[in-house]
Order: sequence, then structure tokens, then C-alpha cells
Amino acid sequence: MKIGVFALQGDFERHGRMLSQLGAEPVYVNKADQLADLDALVVPGGESTTMLKLLDEERMFDPLVEFAKTKSIFGTCAGTILLASEVTSPAQRSLQVMDISVERNAYGRQVDSAIHRVTPEKEFEERTSPGELEVVFIRAPIIRQVRGDARVLVSFDSQPILVEQGRHLVATFHPELTADTRVHELFLAKLRQPK
Ligand code: GLN
Repeated sequence: MKIGVFALQGDFERHGRMLSQLGAEPVYVNKADQLADLDALVVPGGESTTMLKLLDEERMFDPLVEFAKTKSIFGTCAGTILLASEVTSPAQRSLQVMDISVERNAYGRQVDSAIHRVTPEKEFEERTSPGELEVVFIRAPIIRQVRGDARVLVSFDSQPILVEQGRHLVATFHPELTADTRVHELFLAKLRQPK
């Protein structure tokens, strides 16, 4: 399967490595015309304001909105901010792919990064394999609202941190930075069996 990894800015190489490890074929994407032959796209962490600016410069904003109508997107951290339907702190334009509201840098400046172990929802374990999940947060947003048919698969401190909606998936943490491949596995499984 050809999975694009949005590579204008941010932590794209680690996603690429994890996808290769799982047998997918990562393609680093920085032009709109590359979207045509992809099965799905990963939008990595980084700095969402910078990514938005680069998306505009490359004229990729509208093509990505179109792409999301038929293909799956997996966003992590800044990627989640770009895919949300509402962004606060400060407010920012977004692709409106997921029915969620996110607050940027919501864990406060003193908690720039943190690693926690969490117990996923049973459903996550059933669809991947059982066990706690190590989650790495880096200046992470908090998902403040989940609406419509968006569903929570993992929470930390009573806040959703992994949410799926139809063919799309978002995480506020960085699954590409641990050795646990289950979140990427879940995304690849979704592509094989679209809901
Ligand atoms: N704080 C960043 C933003 O608001 C996201 C951080 C990340 O992706 N690790 O865009």
C-alpha cells in the first residue's frame, strides 16, 4: 500500500520508517500532484502554523480537503490540529476533516514533553493487541470536544488522545517515537477494511 507522509515540515521520517517496518510503502509528499496515486496520507507532528503556511504556499490546502473525502488521513499532534474542525489557543484555520475541537499547547508551557503509560479502550486492544500503550507528548494539543460519529479509542487523564472518525484517525501523541507499532497497525488495518 502506498502511504503518503506529508513532508513539508516536522517529524515525517520516523513515520516513514514505522510504515516500512509494517510492510507499507511510504512516499514523502510535498506537492499536490503527488496525492493522486496514494492510498492514504499521514500528517505528522511539527508546528501546525508553519505547516499551514507551507500548505498555502504549495497550494495544497484545497487538494487535501478533496483527498480526505475519499481517502484516509492519519494525523499526529500538529497533524491532528490541521485535521480538526475547530482550533483554539490561538484559533487557526484547519482542514475540517475530523469533528473535534482542539486546544493547542494545552498541557502548558512547563510541560513541553512528557511520556506516560495508558490503558487503551478495549476496542483498541481487540483491533490490535492487548497491553498498555506508551504515549509521548510534545507540546501537545488537548482534544476538548469529540462530536458526531468521531470515537475515542485511547484517553489520558480523561481526555481523548486517539480518535477515529470513519476512515480517518488522529492522535495527540507521537506513536512514531516508540517501539510500539499498534497505532500505525490500526491505521493500516482501517485501510484494508474501511468502515
Ligand atoms: N505545538 C504544536 C502546534 O501547535 C504541535 C506540536 C507537535 O506536533 N509535536 O502546532
